[in-house]
Amino acid sequence: MFKITKFFLITIILSYFAVWISNRPGKVRIVWQEYLIETNVVGLSAVIFFIFLSVILFLFLVSKIKNIPEKVSFSQKEKYLALGNESLDDLAINLFLGDKEALEKNSRKIKKYLKNEMFSTVMLFNTALSNNNLDDAQKYLKILKTIPKAYYISRRADVMVALKEKNIDKALSFLLEYRKEYENDPWISEKLAILYSQKKEWELGWESIKRIKAADNTLLSSLQANLHALSGKNIFDSIKISENSFHVLIEAIKQFIKNNEISKAAKLIEKNWFNFNCPEIIETFIKHGLKNNADSLKRHKLIVKVMKKHLNSSDEVRLSLAMSAFQAKIWGESQKYLDDIPRENWDERTKNLYEEICKKSEKLSMPNDVHDVNASPEWYCISCKTRHKQWQFICDECKAVNSLKWPKTSNIKKKKFFLENPFRHFPKMQ
Ligand SMILES: [Zn+2]
Repeated sequence: MFKITKFFLITIILSYFAVWISNRPGKVRIVWQEYLIETNVVGLSAVIFFIFLSVILFLFLVSKIKNIPEKVSFSQKEKYLALGNESLDDLAINLFLGDKEALEKNSRKIKKYLKNEMFSTVMLFNTALSNNNLDDAQKYLKILKTIPKAYYISRRADVMVALKEKNIDKALSFLLEYRKEYENDPWISEKLAILYSQKKEWELGWESIKRIKAADNTLLSSLQANLHALSGKNIFDSIKISENSFHVLIEAIKQFIKNNEISKAAKLIEKNWFNFNCPEIIETFIKHGLKNNADSLKRHKLIVKVMKKHLNSSDEVRLSLAMSAFQAKIWGESQKYLDDIPRENWDERTKNLYEEICKKSEKLSMPNDVHDVNASPEWYCISCKTRHKQWQFICDECKAVNSLKWPKTSNIKKKKFFLENPFRHFPKMQ
């Protein structure tokens, strides 16, 4: 309302002034050099107004022309920003699907469109490394080393390239050098421990990893426990470090038996059974340092007592107790445990033990419906998938350390929620 009033007021004043001037045009004479210009105040005003308008228009045009290159580059920047964003979205999909080829392509686009150095170089380095393209990996590593923010990861990348080259000594010397800078770094310490393990330098391995707090990392803490035990330290201290090492558990059982503390050994088995669900644990308990049949019977009764509550949880418990009864020469009881295992779950171990029992007692005979049975489970390497008859700390196929898993190990407790590792398909950065 105020604006309209103001507009009307100004229009009225200007019109009044224009009419007033028109009624009193007067005379204006300008003599300039040899020219005489005669006009009136209205004409002069019109000329002045026209000159003023031309100057304004001229300045406006000049400023517009000056801004043209800036405008062009601004729209180019906007376009690149949009393309960069699109590449980032595509990269997220590539990461999820583990599409290495597209990952490399989109990393290059991010580098180009967003002028990004670090993120794209890390991606390109990782893709090159996981494709075993060591020349490219070295090239990107060189770029990483020029980025101050990438200082730490470029140290790790050095080690990763050396490991990919299978140059253990080079990786070891990098790790020892970087440990001076990052004394308690878990990654550097763990890698050092693994390399020392591969060289069977147990003490050095333990020394390099002992200060690291493993917290919920069961693999790391079992590596610590293994190295502690392998370097000849007290086995009961080793098991305090982790109860997730098969070797440490077996050695602790043996030590309890040696100390004539078999009920402690049985309790240890009861507590840790489901970390492994592996009959070899009970086999060790019933066979290690066995004195006579009475000893065998005593151990059998003890193990049945502690394992009874687990009896319905797993066929491996039934099989283990059948083995224990067989060792104690109680054929009927051994058969009973085996009969409780559903036929479809029978494997070579079940069948072989049943045959052994039948040989021992004429009263017992093999059930008629046993035909093809499953193959016996075996330890397998989570790194190379090779199967092994016995547990080993270092996979003799791929040299991975602490990588063997018993296939029957209960995964109820350890089942991971999908989102805990949404990038599980992504090429590993270690
Ligand atoms: Zn392996």
